[in-house]
This record gives sequence, structure tokens and C-alpha cells, in this order.
Amino acid sequence: MFALTDKIAVITGAASGIGAATARRFAHAGAHVVLAAYSPDGHDVDRVRADVAAAGRQAMVVETDVGQTPSVDALAAAALARFGRIDIALANAAIARRKPSLELDDRSWEQTLGIDLQGVWRLFRAVLPAMRDAGGGRLLATASTAGPFEAWEAHVHYSAAKAGIVGMVRSLAAEVGPLGITVNAIAPGIIETPQTLDSVNSLGAGGIAETGRTQPVRRIGKPEDIAAAYHFLASDDASFVTGHTLLVDGGRMLIRG
Ligand code: NAD
Repeated sequence: MFALTDKIAVITGAASGIGAATARRFAHAGAHVVLAAYSPDGHDVDRVRADVAAAGRQAMVVETDVGQTPSVDALAAAALARFGRIDIALANAAIARRKPSLELDDRSWEQTLGIDLQGVWRLFRAVLPAMRDAGGGRLLATASTAGPFEAWEAHVHYSAAKAGIVGMVRSLAAEVGPLGITVNAIAPGIIETPQTLDSVNSLGAGGIAETGRTQPVRRIGKPEDIAAAYHFLASDDASFVTGHTLLVDGGRMLIRG
């Protein structure tokens, strides 16, 4: 069920949080995984690499800055040189930086949009030719509830980027569907990861715990909850699902006024 046997998956932001959980999940489903890691953030990608290897799959770590086109092009080239094809590309890397809108200058805007929105496009663009030549593939991106589904104060740049992913996914899905390529996003709710545990830029541990007490499923979201949904979307079983942004939020959007 949802087998990913010998699929080649490239994941950005793979050293932590949702990306790391998805890399582990894909490996257990049979995929070899190219782990794009950004070392300035200090996450331990070797643990993820070891877990993929322990699942009997190949792991390859590629240092990548999704804010830089040559870096993302080099990631795709390295994956193709090693494995010969890319079946699944998950553009998951992002930053969230709290910035009141009255202080939101070009530099902050461009940094966040450059990583969170253009970074997604850089990965998609880099892998599209190989997917076209192979006759298909899965393009996936991590959006958010913030932007597509709700407001997040002092995060106008982040919200704009995440809403932009929804539009990108729709239009690209229509364009590359005839090539056998599907394009989908997931909009996670509040998930316990380094991003949300950052109390300066996000909710912090207390805010996450409060969400867990109040949202319909009465627990905090885990990276594995998002990985499970990505597993389906990455599989052959999802070949009729495209252009979609899947809300995975424990029902939080049902009750947020
Ligand atoms: P995280 O901070 O652990 O993951 C973000 C990853 O992106 C990190 O591994 C980081 O090193 C990487 N990254 C940052 N800048 C980069 C760059 N320039 N180049 C390459 N990689 C870079 O947090 P997470 O929650 O696992 O985030 C994963 C995705 O989920 C992000 O797109 C985030 O916006 C999204 N998201 C998270 C939540 C949540 O509640 N945690 C909710 C909605 C959306």
C-alpha cells in the first residue's frame, strides 16, 4: 500500500522537523532519499541519514541553500548523477521571521519570499526536465495554514509566500499534468518542530501546548502526521490527485474564528 519502492526522493529542509520525518517515512516505504540540508541552521542531518540507511535505503546528503539558484541546480544535478532520475521532489525548506508590517523592509520581504516561495520554484524548475524525460513525477511543497487559510500577524511576508505556493501548485499542475507529473502541497496546522518551538518568531512550547489542548483532535501535531500525508501524495496511488493543497491541521481551521 502506497509503496515507494526504489523511488528517488529529493527533500529540502530534510535535517529537521517535517522534512526529516518525511525522509524517514519515505525510506521505510522503500525510497532512496536525497537529503538537502542547510548547515548554518545547525540541525544534525547525520541522524536522518543514519535512519534512512537503517531502513535499508540509500541516503545522500547535499548541502543546499534554496535561496540560491546555483545551489538548487547543483542539488538536482547531484541527485541525477547518483541515481539517474528523480521521482519525487519535496520543496519543504522555509523560514519564519516575526516582523511587524510597519518594519517590513525590502530586505526582510525578499529574504522570506526568496526562500519560502522562490525556493519552492527553484526546486520544481530544477527537477522538471528530468521528470518530463522520465514520463512523470511528484512535485510536493509545504505551504501553511498561514496565508492560504488564516491570518498570522507580523508574518505578512511568510503568509504571502505560503499563499503563493497554492497558486503555483494549481497553475503548474494544469501545465505539467499531460507529462505525467502531479503537483500538490500540504498546509500543516501547528506542528511541533524547531520552527514552532522558536518563541521569538513563532508560538514557542507554551503556545503549541495550548493549541494541543484546544484544537478538535486535542493533541499537538507531530512531524509524522505531515509525513504520513506526504507518503500518500508521493505514491502512485495519488496519481489522480493534482493541483491540491491538503489541509492537515487536527481540525484547527474548523474552530478558529
Ligand atoms: P524546521 O525549521 O525544522 O524546518 C525548516 C527547514 O528548512 C530546516 O531544516 C532549515 O534548515 C531549512 N532551511 C531554512 N532556510 C534554508 C535555506 N535557505 N536553504 C535550505 N534549507 C533551509 O521547521 P518545520 O516546521 O519542519 O518546517 C518545514 C516546513 O513546514 C516549512 O516550509 C514551514 O514553513 C512549514 N510549516 C510548518 C508548520 C509548523 O507548525 N511546524 C506549520 C505550517 C507550515
